[in-house]
Amino acid sequence: MTSPSPSASTGGATVELIDVVKDYAGHRALTGVNLSVRPGEFVALLGPSGCGKTTALRALSGLEQVNGGSILIDGVDVVDVPVNKRDIGMVFQSYSLFPHLTAVENVEFGLRMRKVAAGDRRARAAESLELVGLGHLAARYAHQLSGGQQQRIALARALVTRPRVLLLDEPLSALDAKVRVQLRDEIRRIQTDLGITTLFVTHDQEEALAVADRVAVMRDGNIEQIGTPEELYTTPSTPFVAAFVGLSNRMPATLSNGRVTLYGETLGVLGSPAMSGPVLALVRPEDLLLVPQATPGSIAAKVVASSFLGSLRRTRLALSDGTLVSVQHDVSEHPEPGQSVGVRLRGNAVSVSGVDG
Ligand code: ADP
Ligand code: MG
Repeated sequence: MTSPSPSASTGGATVELIDVVKDYAGHRALTGVNLSVRPGEFVALLGPSGCGKTTALRALSGLEQVNGGSILIDGVDVVDVPVNKRDIGMVFQSYSLFPHLTAVENVEFGLRMRKVAAGDRRARAAESLELVGLGHLAARYAHQLSGGQQQRIALARALVTRPRVLLLDEPLSALDAKVRVQLRDEIRRIQTDLGITTLFVTHDQEEALAVADRVAVMRDGNIEQIGTPEELYTTPSTPFVAAFVGLSNRMPATLSNGRVTLYGETLGVLGSPAMSGPVLALVRPEDLLLVPQATPGSIAAKVVASSFLGSLRRTRLALSDGTLVSVQHDVSEHPEPGQSVGVRLRGNAVSVSGVDG
């Protein structure tokens, strides 16, 4: 057995999926996925449950055979290369540590499989544990570690073989909110330090936007749009992306000549919708301004509920036509349920979808 080549620790690989198709007993889980990831890039695969995120990662890792297309790592097609020869590290959602092994033995496992000599193995496992900040817990068993610590060990285990691609399948979803954010930021720091090409699966749009260089939004077995977090948020190419990335209000509107009119205001349209007539405008909460009273140029509304979110407050309003919308505003404002207020549109452009979308 050969040890990893010297170049294996010097940076990430290019990863390309070309027209990748995966069928499970008559169900097409991937319908021809195309994705190109640069060396050292951190790409999040974001999408609702069942859209094919896990299948895409498993196909890349070799845990699933594909039914069509190519998977290239640094330009080499690996479709027929077995899992353990693809130079990929993986972390899964559920804690997958071996319960009968200590933390350091878990981390050593991949090296043992690769027949790395004991001394070298120990040293590299220790180094990998330090990388995730858990050198002091090397002798603990899984049941003596918190969820967040177990996932750090799983990360150390994935990285110990110095893979050039790291695949993370919802690694944070079993953790509580605070640990999630800490570990998310830690993963990003380690990833950046190592320069390892990383695909990170999540169904949580906030998580995807917070960590990734680019986010690929998946739907029904394919990628609907890929872009930087800013691009996806500000210029979603489809209503699905607009609705999935960030919170959007759906407000009745009329589309004509590439402009959309709602509640007396005319705004630009994002994307190039092939429709006209009645539509729903997808308006971000931050593109609605809460004003104390309905005045000319604002829409009359009544407060339904208001919730404190720490750094801001989100208030649910019923517009005069019955449409429900959410607005965000400073915590110093305290709208009371039943109170009459106004809301003003302040964006320049919005996405639109069909009235039944
Ligand atoms: P995600 O990770 O985005 O939630 P998956 O990749 O797990 O989605 O699943 C994509 C689709 O493929 C789903 O419809 C799921 O039910 C189906 N699927 C996943 N794994 C299998 C399997 N082993 N056998 C049959 N169908 C599967
Ligand atoms: Mg999944």
